[in-house]
Amino acid sequence: ANQQRVETNILLLGAHSVGKTALTVRFLTRRFIGEYGDIESIYSRVDRVDGQEICINIWDSQAGGKSCSFSDKQLQWADGMVLVYDICDRASFEVVRQQLQLIRRSRKMSMAPVVIVGNKRDLQHRRSVSGEEGHLLAMTERCGFFEVSAAETYHGVLLVFHRLVDLVRETRALR
Ligand code: GDP
Repeated sequence: ANQQRVETNILLLGAHSVGKTALTVRFLTRRFIGEYGDIESIYSRVDRVDGQEICINIWDSQAGGKSCSFSDKQLQWADGMVLVYDICDRASFEVVRQQLQLIRRSRKMSMAPVVIVGNKRDLQHRRSVSGEEGHLLAMTERCGFFEVSAAETYHGVLLVFHRLVDLVRETRALR
């Protein structure tokens, strides 16, 4: 067995306030705090997957303003991406669509694993993006897809990150 620790770099993208930090903090601490600062950072957690230690590094990007842009440096760093929108915020869904197009057009990341996440599933009464729409976008673009609530559950959030880690491992095995 390979005892070496493998690094997996995950870049979180999406509009402001969709819950990127909430998802990151939930994954790392199992907790939901409620309010988070706008500090851009890289966080790490070590997991064991199929007997192998994997160090999961998460870059929680704070996209500056409305531009929803990300840097080449971020793309170079990433092995895979989580694109987050808020199911109550249609504009944030459009941001994910745009970011996905930019990613697919970039040379290095055109084939990179991506998981799309519709967050704030607890706010059903304010939903403006249906689950089907999210599914359809993910299917068309060959991405994973989950609807979750960072506020309510740890389990769904865990599935998101582990799905991406699996996709990154599959991609590496193909190389
Ligand atoms: P970011 O800018 O994408 O990092 O968003 P934050 O993680 O800072 O979250 C923005 C706001 O949405 C905060 O007030 C969070 O408490 C709230 N929030 C995040 N996730 C959820 C969720 O699943 N449900 C609800 N109801 N609120 C959430």
